[in-house]
Amino acid sequence: MEFETRAIHAGQAPDAATGSVTTPIYQTSTFAQEAVGVHKGYDYARVANPTRTALEECLASLESAAHGHAFSSGLGATTTLMHLVDPGQRVVCVNDVYGGVYRMFSQVYAPKGYAFTYLPPEELSTGLAAHLDETTRLVWVESPTNPLLNVVDIHAAATAAHEVGALLVVDNTFASPFLQRPLELGADVVVHSTTKYLGGHSDVVGGFVATNDPAVSERLRFLQKSLGAVPGPFDSWLVLRGLKTLAVRMQRHCANARAVVAFLEDHPRVVDVLYPGRPSHPGHEIAARQMDDFGGMVSFLVESEDEAVDLVARTRVWTLAESLGGVESLIEHPYRMTHASTADAPFAAPRNLIRLSVGIEAAEDLVDDLAHALAAVPART
Ligand code: PLP
Repeated sequence: MEFETRAIHAGQAPDAATGSVTTPIYQTSTFAQEAVGVHKGYDYARVANPTRTALEECLASLESAAHGHAFSSGLGATTTLMHLVDPGQRVVCVNDVYGGVYRMFSQVYAPKGYAFTYLPPEELSTGLAAHLDETTRLVWVESPTNPLLNVVDIHAAATAAHEVGALLVVDNTFASPFLQRPLELGADVVVHSTTKYLGGHSDVVGGFVATNDPAVSERLRFLQKSLGAVPGPFDSWLVLRGLKTLAVRMQRHCANARAVVAFLEDHPRVVDVLYPGRPSHPGHEIAARQMDDFGGMVSFLVESEDEAVDLVARTRVWTLAESLGGVESLIEHPYRMTHASTADAPFAAPRNLIRLSVGIEAAEDLVDDLAHALAAVPART
């Protein structure tokens, strides 16, 4: 079945007990047993819940995965994956990584004796092998990256990681499986913040991990119940509902992003536009190969930090807020907001950077609002 059909039906046959067409929210913490250990496949809701199972089956299918595991947040998924690593082992990570992941790696795991190497995206695409040794357990990649929209060659990174027996983990939050399926490109594990495009309506926080490796999946199932970072039934249901419209939403996010990029790249007060769909983008060729379209995230540079901070507060349709991937357009200043925890890192977000999560409103309204906000920026001399 095609992606759009699986997004609506995978894991979601009408409810056997009632015929309910939508998967019910099984709002229960425990399940009755006929005799000790005799039950219908569910005993306690941290271990498994039917609403969560439907989400796990549906999203695994969309990622071309045999196994899926849902978590309470993207960082809940990340910290669970970090339990595949032991102190003394190394994680090689793209340096342009989400600030919250960097904070976890640098302030939680590094002090416990885990080793981290941060590499620029181009180095992960072309020279990764030189940075790997037998202590490397994970290679951690985002593509496109948050917030600079850099692109990593997933197939090349997977080949290098496998040479030393490491697992390639790809955070697919920015692309979503509608645009990119990392497991098909050779990755071992896909991780998501379902808070973003998958939920799609800025009303839920969640995470997800997909894999085709049965041993990794078995360990993750054990870690999921043992560490306990699981989503509740209502949050699972919200993400499941979001998936049904993922395909049409992503098409509109991409079309609106193209309109916004076309406007920004001609604007005299914009210094540069970062978007993998631009032929001048350093990762354009790789993105065109491994993605079906270029996504709804756009970043751009203005002249100074002061201009950037002023501008993000001046829009009326674009809401000044952290997060991304919802139907409404959001604007933010990564250096002071989403990426404040990388501010002291050598690869801190540029101070004059603005990040846009392009929503699915009318493109004209989005462009008009940016035009109004940019009009108040003083002309460059
Ligand atoms: N990965 C990326 C690329 C993100 O942008 C985020 C959050 O912004 C996360 C992971 C963390 O997800 P969550 O906020 O759901 O914990």
